[in-house]
Amino acid sequence: MHKVTLITGDGIGPEIAQAARRCVEATGAPIEWDIQEAGQDVMDREGTPLPERTVKSIEASEVTLKAPITTPVGVGFRSINVHLRQHFNLYACLRPCKSYVGVRSRYENIDLVVVRENTEDLYAGIEFEKGSDLTAELIQWINSKSKRQISSDSGISIKPISVTGTRKIVQFAFDYARKNGRKKVTSVHKANIMKYTDGLWLEVSREVAKENPDIEFEDRIVDNMCMQLVQKPELYDVIVLPNLYGDILSDLCAGLVGGLGVAPGANIGDNKAVFEATHGSAPKYKGQDKVNPTALILSSVLMLRYLELRKEADKLEKAVAAVIAEGKHVTYDMKPHRDDPEAVGTQAMADAIIAKM
Ligand code: NAD
Repeated sequence: MHKVTLITGDGIGPEIAQAARRCVEATGAPIEWDIQEAGQDVMDREGTPLPERTVKSIEASEVTLKAPITTPVGVGFRSINVHLRQHFNLYACLRPCKSYVGVRSRYENIDLVVVRENTEDLYAGIEFEKGSDLTAELIQWINSKSKRQISSDSGISIKPISVTGTRKIVQFAFDYARKNGRKKVTSVHKANIMKYTDGLWLEVSREVAKENPDIEFEDRIVDNMCMQLVQKPELYDVIVLPNLYGDILSDLCAGLVGGLGVAPGANIGDNKAVFEATHGSAPKYKGQDKVNPTALILSSVLMLRYLELRKEADKLEKAVAAVIAEGKHVTYDMKPHRDDPEAVGTQAMADAIIAKM
């Protein structure tokens, strides 16, 4: 039995969590769920959006499946999602982007995976506010050491890129490629401009590539990569990026294959992994049994593969693909017209998926 924490989230979270759980159970996967809360609903009752028992459960279980959580306003940390990533050092953000027949999109035959570094870069959270004493001190120090001068009315965000962080994420991309039968890793950067950060990223990427000669390697400058992705996305396989470019390009890639309703994701560390949909808690649809459960169900497919339950993962993915291809028992957002009276609800779509297994 694999012990899995299921965080039901808030907004549309509990509904899609229920749908995903039922689908996973229908595969026959040997899973023991530990159901936990996080987000607005538990915050309203207990005064914290992330109870200690939820953190303890994540610590004790092999993996976590997490439904979306509304970012709370006015509590100790900015976002539970960011907090969990930092607390459990989930350094890799995985976003597979795959075309499914029946999903409305401008492209066909896309099957790529975005691997985003999750802890460093401009998102490390090291920022200096315009006008503060510390910022003035930093600007003065930089201006005394550097030929290029910073204007005194600047705000500053620091962009750390380390050998350790880069090595870890690029090796993760190669390991993922090998484990999942993929052929090529593309490392993305702006090394021509930022020589000491992106340049270092590229240098380390090339070193790691040499240690993994069984997988093809190439690099691309980020602006060129954006153009390539909208013109020839079928050429790419596994793409590894620093945090900021990874954030932007993973949304671009989600757009290539039909958008948020079908975009799964995972945050993975050395010995913990949290699987979740890319979309948020869509509070306006809460409790209406209306939204698309596909993204969280496909996140469960990733989770099953991570747990090496490949047979169960393939079974579930095939069932999801079949229901989407038929286009009958799907939610409103997958119909040609959003007000289509034949659109089904969240649980009915899950029922249709279960019926295909
Ligand atoms: P959102 O993704 O929740 O919703 C944006 C719109 O996308 C919705 O109004 C809806 O039209 C559509 N949508 C989203 N999911 C859908 C689904 N499953 N089926 C059909 N349509 C769907 O984004 P938002 O409104 O910017 O964020 C709402 C809250 O969620 C915020 O508090 C945000 O911080 C949080 N959030 C959480 C996560 C997470 O838990 N990982 C991720 C993103 C946003």
